[in-house]
Amino acid sequence: MSPETHLLASWIIAAKTTDNARDCRLVALAGILPDADGLGLIADALTGWLGGKPTQFYAHYHHYLLHGALGGILIATLMACFARHRWRVALLVLLVFHLHLLCDFVGSRGPAPEDLWPIFYLGPFDKDPMWVWKGQLRLDGWFNRWLSVVLFAWALWLPLRLGYSVVGVFNRRADQVFVGVLRKWRDEWVQRGRPLR
Ligand SMILES: [Zn+2]
Repeated sequence: MSPETHLLASWIIAAKTTDNARDCRLVALAGILPDADGLGLIADALTGWLGGKPTQFYAHYHHYLLHGALGGILIATLMACFARHRWRVALLVLLVFHLHLLCDFVGSRGPAPEDLWPIFYLGPFDKDPMWVWKGQLRLDGWFNRWLSVVLFAWALWLPLRLGYSVVGVFNRRADQVFVGVLRKWRDEWVQRGRPLR
């Protein structure tokens, strides 16, 4: 699935299972960190752009470096180091990490039917076992789009009570502004629904 869908799903799980903004941010971040192994795409584009020898970092390492057990352990350890409740965050990180793998397994196919993305659970050490589902859904298909819309709506609803949102994963000040706007809209909407005296 796309990084924004992973982020929304992991943030919602984090918002429901943590009791402070810091741990929530860490668990949410863990939901997208496996895709850091796709950053080779930038290096590939740069080498092509600069006219150097073409590189294949994205093709070789995406879904191979951080989409297995090693990635899960590294990300859980890293996030737990910064957490308030370390064990709880480590376990929740492992949960959202494996949800990421499951979502990629189910819905990350490219445009062509054979453009499947397997999961190498022992990557980057071994390509065996290789888990692949031939019915994998398209990344840009209806299921992924609708799931993203539903998760987005949910991620706009939860901050009204919590006081922090998915924006806080990146910037705390921007998050305060964002939640303030959401609450203002909610208050205006409630006001409009009240009968005039
Ligand atoms: Zn992924």
